[in-house]
Amino acid sequence: MVVDEETRALVAPLQKLLDWARGHSMWPLTFGTACCAIEMMTVGSARYDTDRFGIFFRNSPRQADCMIVAGTINLKMAPRLKLLYDQMAAPKYVIAMGSCAVAGGPFAAGYNVVNGVDAIVPVDIYLTGCPPRPEALIHALLTLMERNAAGEPSAAELHAAEVRRAAQEATW
Ligand code: SF4
Repeated sequence: MVVDEETRALVAPLQKLLDWARGHSMWPLTFGTACCAIEMMTVGSARYDTDRFGIFFRNSPRQADCMIVAGTINLKMAPRLKLLYDQMAAPKYVIAMGSCAVAGGPFAAGYNVVNGVDAIVPVDIYLTGCPPRPEALIHALLTLMERNAAGEPSAAELHAAEVRRAAQEATW
């Protein structure tokens, strides 16, 4: 940002302003399916007061820009998770919270367990632990916001670019 000498106003490219705004606001969708969700709920409590960071939990995917997958995902749940993700407006982000969401966790050998939520949606942050503490989830959210402020592309944008490149190579 620079100061315009004539008007003494702060001016900046629109993208920089958008990045700055995204670096100070995150509205996560509550998507808890197992024990990790208890830690996620704790993050929303008065003790941690995430409002001060611009983090507000939402119950509708249409109002959320970050999906926190907190818990085990089984094959029956996978299409519902994808549907909710598709209903979120871009730019959108995903945090895989806990060993189950990252790679299946203690249930990885189960016949009905998805071994990593990145098989369904692009993941921005992998947060390990069984379960991760609330402070770890807050750190993950703040890291995501820092990346946004720096203008880094989301996992969804990188995934879309990869699909476009693969489609171009297939037509050559
Ligand atoms: S990672 Fe551990 S705490 Fe989290 S949902 Fe799986 S079993 Fe539960």
